[in-house]
Order: sequence, then C-alpha cells, then structure tokens
Amino acid sequence: MAAPAGFGSIPLGGGTLLTGVAAEVAATDFGRLVRRVPGAVLRPGSVEDVVAAIRWAGAHGLPIAARGAGHAMNGQGLVDGGIILDLRSLNTVHLVAEDRVVVDAGALWSAVVAATTARGLTPPVLTDYLETTVGGTLSAGGLGGMSHRHGAQTDTVLELDVVTGAGELVTCSREHERELFDAVRAGFGQLGVLVRATIRLIPALPMSRCYRLRYTDLGALTADQSRLIAEDRFDYVEGSAGLGETGTPEYKLEVATFVPTLSDVDSDALLAGLRHEPGAVEIEDTTYPEFLDRLAPGVAFRREIKEWELPHPWLNVFLPGPAAAEVVGRIMAELTLVDLAPCGVILLYPVHTARSGTPLLRLPDEPVAFLFALLLTADPAEPGAILRMAQRNRRFYECVLQAGGTTYPIGPPGLKPSEWVAHYGEAWPAFQAAKARFDPKRIMTPGPGFWPDSPA
Ligand SMILES: Cc1cc2nc3c(=O)[nH]c(=O)nc-3n(C[C@H](O)[C@H](O)[C@H](O)COP(=O)(O)OP(=O)(O)OC[C@H]3O[C@@H](n4cnc5c(N)ncnc54)[C@H](O)[C@@H]3O)c2cc1C
Repeated sequence: MAAPAGFGSIPLGGGTLLTGVAAEVAATDFGRLVRRVPGAVLRPGSVEDVVAAIRWAGAHGLPIAARGAGHAMNGQGLVDGGIILDLRSLNTVHLVAEDRVVVDAGALWSAVVAATTARGLTPPVLTDYLETTVGGTLSAGGLGGMSHRHGAQTDTVLELDVVTGAGELVTCSREHERELFDAVRAGFGQLGVLVRATIRLIPALPMSRCYRLRYTDLGALTADQSRLIAEDRFDYVEGSAGLGETGTPEYKLEVATFVPTLSDVDSDALLAGLRHEPGAVEIEDTTYPEFLDRLAPGVAFRREIKEWELPHPWLNVFLPGPAAAEVVGRIMAELTLVDLAPCGVILLYPVHTARSGTPLLRLPDEPVAFLFALLLTADPAEPGAILRMAQRNRRFYECVLQAGGTTYPIGPPGLKPSEWVAHYGEAWPAFQAAKARFDPKRIMTPGPGFWPDSPA
C-alpha cells in the first residue's frame, strides 16, 4: 500500500512521529520472517494521541496496529504503509494495591514485576521472558510455568481500557462490555488498542527452589508432569526436550516451589515417586525475582553472539494430553543436533485447560494440554533455511492438528482465513461480530490475516 503524504496532519497533543526511512524501525519483528514498512510510527504521548491516530487512520482508510516490544514472530503487528502505534511510550505503573496492579499497556512485564515484588506481591502468571509488554502478551494469551494453576495471563485480567477501531475509549471487564473484553484478550489487536490493564495480584513469597530432573523416557516425563499438576505439588511446572551428544532425544522436568524461607522446603516429599533418571538432581536456590528473570543471562549471550537478530521460525502449539508424548516423540525423531544449533530450545509443559476462560485462546478439548514450543533459529549460512523450516513447521502443525491440537498463534505457521475460522471454532461468530461492531472500518491490525478481506 502506498503511504499517503500528510501523517503530520494527525492532530496529536504530543508524542513522537517517525516517517520515511525512520519508520523502518517497525518494519519487522523478532521472527525476522516478514517485512512490512509502515508509513509512520507514532510513539503516543497520551491515550488521546492513540484516539486521534486511530480516528485519522479510519478517515484515511489506512491500516493501523499497536506494537509492544515487537516479539511477535510472524508479522502479526506489522502494517504496510499504515501506522504503527509504538505503545512503549505509555508505560506507567499507576497503582499497586493489595489485590491488583493498574498499568499502562506499554509497560514491560519486568517493570510490573519490579513494582509489585517490591510490595511483596506478584501477578499470578508470568511468561518465561519478561521483556515483553503487558498489551503484547494480553493480546496473545501469555503462558508460563504457573499457568497450570492460574491459566493464561489473559485469565488474570480484571479490567481493560481499549481504544477501539472506531476511535472510542471503552473500559471493559467480565461485568461490563463483556463482548469487547472477550474479543481483545488473546485477540491480537483485531478490535482496537489496549491502553491500560488492571491485573490481579497474589502474595509473592520471597524465595524459590528450582529442581531440574533428567528423563530419557518421554512418556514418563509427561506422566509425571500431569501427576504434579493434578496434585498441585509445585508453584511452577515446565519441562524441555533436547538432544544428547549422540543426537538421542532427552528431556528435562523443571519445577519450582516458592517459599518464605528455604528451610521450609521438604525436597524428599516434593520429588517423591517421580520417574526421572537416577543421578544428579540439579537444584537452584534464588530469590523469587531472580527466578522470574532466569532467562536474562541466556538472552544476553544470544544478543552477544548476534543470534537475537537472526530469523526465528518458531513453532508454538498445544497438544491434547493423551497424544502429547506420541506427537512430540515423532517430531523429536526428525530433529538433529544441527537443527538445535546455535542455541535452540524446545519447551514442553502442561496446563489444566479448565483454568483458562479466555475464549480466543484455543486449547485442545482435553482436561490437560501441553504447550510444545520448538524455538529454533534459521542458519544464515544455509540457503533456503527459512523456507525449509517453514515447510517443516507446516508439516508438524498438521500432525498436531490431526492429533486434536491447536496453534498458539504467536508465530508460524500463518494460516489461511478459512483455517483461522476452523481454529477459532465456536468462538469465531462472536469474534466476527465484535470485529464488525468495534472496528467497522476494518483498519485494525491486518497482520495475522484472520479475515477474508485481510490484505495478503
Ligand atoms: C524470547 C521470547 C520469549 C517468549 N516467551 C513466552 C512465554 O514464555 N509465554 C508466552 O505465552 N509467550 C512467550 N513469547 C511470545 C510473546 O508473549 C508474544 O509474542 C507477545 O505477543 C509479545 O509481546 P510484545 O510486547 O512483544 O508484542 P508485539 O510483538 O509488539 O505484538 C504482538 C501482537 O499483539 C498486538 N499488540 C501489541 N500490543 C498491543 C496493545 N497494546 N493493544 C492491542 N494489540 C497489541 C500487536 O499488534 C501484535 O499483533 C515469547 C516471545 C519471545 C520472542
């Protein structure tokens, strides 16, 4: 789409507007798979600037999308020729009360955690990586090792302020404007821009003991993970897959308990009956905030070796509990040590699907589902690596689909509109009706390509 002249006529009260070459800062995302150059990037100075930009885009028939930390992986938040609202300029933590935090949607989760843990409180669910924005993960779902207990981050939201595609500022919650509330949580910005969120808080215990246990039997790992969440033994339950030195698949259970003092921990009771390999159990004691930020050193290393800037054709899917070990086993059998270079990560962990009440977060129809995340990097030295991995991801996705699984649409594969309709299933009619009501000019966030009229 050709960028029209005149972005300077958006009636802004403040903020910063980048146009021309400067707007290319928002032309791609963490995936580095899609490039779309916006006509302008606005760093709003206020919610009124967000309203003005959306109304202006509507009047000019231009696409517009919010951008948080840009950690999407398949161009979901990119626009060609339109406007990107870089929400990170609206990042105030307004209030930390006993049971809730009120925060601008552009705040990073690391800032929210710093503000709340200073008061002995924490959001119930945190993603593994904290340098994403509140608006970004609430537009996706937001899962982590606490999701088996509390669902997704979208399930812990009490209230949202949204500037709709019609340019109206609306407050919504479970009790008020429920249609909007249900269609913006995990809604990838299809209806409007989240500008403020009220999120539930729970007490944060100051210390964490994390255990890492080795498995060679994948069925034993998923059975133990299912048992642990059924018994609610740990605060945090995750797991991972990898390849040993000879390329044989091996697995790890990662669990943590949060406590007032480490002397309260009874490791024997916590680990009783688990079917891990005999031998060393890795134990890591940290403060709770250190545990939450555990990925920071790894990310610093990836940045140092420039891996962070390479293409990331990541695949994130949910598998129904009974099929998880079989499907993951099949996928692992296809991977080699080269696939995991330089620092590939494969996550596998369970959630209770009934703990999530987010209609647009599509989980398999089973009491327990597993998040399976294949977080691999395309080798810049291999010609055609991105295409090869995209085709493989598509094939893996089809295996997942056949087994009754779903995609977590933060990354590839991009689906066709008819496939999105099937993905959203019984939630689709309400999503479609909310789109028509709150984004009547259909200007919001074309990137995911959900709708038949989405630009290719
Ligand atoms: C290193 C890494 C680790 C991750 N770990 C996890 C994890 O543990 N668990 C998990 O669930 N996910 C994880 N993710 C995925 C991540 O949570 C999502 O990609 C999330 O959407 C990124 O947030 P962001 O602030 O970067 O949003 P962006 O990438 O900027 O935006 C994502 C989408 O949301 C829309 N959007 C952003 N802000 C708003 C807003 N305020 N209002 C309306 N729409 C908006 C955008 O238009 C876009 O469609 C990880 C991603 C990376 C790269």
